[in-house]
Amino acid sequence: MRLPDEVDVLVVGAGFSGLYMLHKLRGIGMEAVALEKGDGVGGTWYWNRYPGARCDVESPYYSYSFDADLEQEWEWTERYPAQPELLRYLNHVADRFDLRKDISFETTAVSAIFDEVSDVWTVTTVGPEGGQVTRARYCVMATGCLSSARMPDIPGLESFEGNLLHTGMWPHEEVDFTGQRVGVIGTGSSGIQAIPVIASQAENLQVFQRTPNFSVPAFNGPIDQEWVKGIKADYPALRERSRHTTMGIPYQRRDQSAMEVSAEERQRIFEHHWPKGGFRISSCFNDLIRNKESNDALATFVRGKIDEMVDDPKIAELLKPQDHPITAKRICVDTDYYATYNRDNVDLVDVKSDPIQEITARGIQTAGKHFELDTIVVATGFDAMTGAMLRMDIRGRGGASLREHWDAGARTYLGLAVAGFPNMFTIAGPGSPSVLSNMVTSIEQHVEWIAEHLSYLAERGCASSEANTVAEDEWVEHVRELSEKTLFPSANSWYLGANVPGKPRVFMPYVGGVGTYRAHCEDIAARDYEGFLIK
Ligand code: NAP
Repeated sequence: MRLPDEVDVLVVGAGFSGLYMLHKLRGIGMEAVALEKGDGVGGTWYWNRYPGARCDVESPYYSYSFDADLEQEWEWTERYPAQPELLRYLNHVADRFDLRKDISFETTAVSAIFDEVSDVWTVTTVGPEGGQVTRARYCVMATGCLSSARMPDIPGLESFEGNLLHTGMWPHEEVDFTGQRVGVIGTGSSGIQAIPVIASQAENLQVFQRTPNFSVPAFNGPIDQEWVKGIKADYPALRERSRHTTMGIPYQRRDQSAMEVSAEERQRIFEHHWPKGGFRISSCFNDLIRNKESNDALATFVRGKIDEMVDDPKIAELLKPQDHPITAKRICVDTDYYATYNRDNVDLVDVKSDPIQEITARGIQTAGKHFELDTIVVATGFDAMTGAMLRMDIRGRGGASLREHWDAGARTYLGLAVAGFPNMFTIAGPGSPSVLSNMVTSIEQHVEWIAEHLSYLAERGCASSEANTVAEDEWVEHVRELSEKTLFPSANSWYLGANVPGKPRVFMPYVGGVGTYRAHCEDIAARDYEGFLIK
């Protein structure tokens, strides 16, 4: 699709956020188009096609709630949705709401420049039609938090003559590892999901681990039809409850400190929650991310589980995280991860003690050994939360660049707007619960808030809305203060930008929880968008 010369709203991205934003904007009578770098919809679920890719939130909750027929009619097949199923779902949504006709695929936004005289953004894109320029009153950045995949800075990467694959930019055709010698670099969520599947195919798998992460089994399987029936019968209430929880999932969190019970009782409660799978373990007490002692108790419990699952005690020891509190990095949710190290064709290479020195034409050279490989899978993560936006040259009032504004760390008001960048809104941006939550719950809240705000502006004939600097400063400070009351900042995580050399270390997500955050955003709106300069 050729982008129009002028439009009310330009949405950048056609993943979960962009698709719903486009639909919602139509609903409020705005002319809107979206552009998307991929040749299809899906965002994260379009790019991350690696074997084993699966969401860590259960299927009935990791789905849109805005359309009652959609949520009743769509049938999930597994408890946790795999990437192909999520991509099918998002394609279904695009077709069901006839969204494709307003999406320009294979199109990348290069720059967005705000014109203070007309209060309009000029967005320059490149795509199949060549370079295009579109003028839009509003820009909505639905660019995703984990959409800017990062290759590691390892010397010689380009010299590798085998197959080099990044989990976040996986090829569309199936990759068959049968008979191959494979190396995986990285043991975050992506590596932890891919490793068991690759191990089941490859002749030999070397896992290059620098830092172990905590992982809990998903206990995934075919979806329990009775469970889904119960959820579908009660969807409105469950969705409403999700919107007021901490994570945006309707789990009941035990309202008790782990330290209020005896050691035996604590163990019993951990054991009780473990087979429930995934994030449910983090709901078993209310202070796991705030109280070091409580956190240590859960971490010790999970390390004990690693001992139970891994036959070789030396390997088990290497797999136990010791350097960060549990849940201070997003906990990984796996299928057979630890048991994979009991296979004869899998080796764990501890690159902390034997660092990777270079990638050679034929494999990986560590300080102590050369590993001959046919394929290297790089599962080294993303320039998270800010990477996708900062790839564009975004210039607001006075030609000021977003890169400079965020030079010392991302600054936003509510994770929704940026001072000096009028008429630009971000979905699930830094300063909002976003990556600490069920992304779909958070995305829906942002989309609905933005749509309401744009309707408010239209009804009053206003031309621009911009976060004011004081409101932004106070919000940035509030987000920082809240995070410092938790154990989150003590982990070297991508939440802090710690995985990208030179990235400023600022804790980006809002830790106060989805419910508290929503109430705050609603309150701001009710007070005629306090903190915004509207004209
Ligand atoms: P990640 O969590 O950032 O993990 C990257 C891994 O690569 C880490 O183990 C890191 O080790 C390692 N690494 C990076 N550079 C390296 C180097 N030069 N040499 C050796 N190792 C290196 O990335 P991710 O696994 O792609 O996950 C990112 C986020 O995506 C997750 O936290 C999650 O929010 C999301 N995700 C979710 C799911 C799901 O829903 N189930 C699945 C996949 C991803 P260090 O820790 O030592 O840096």
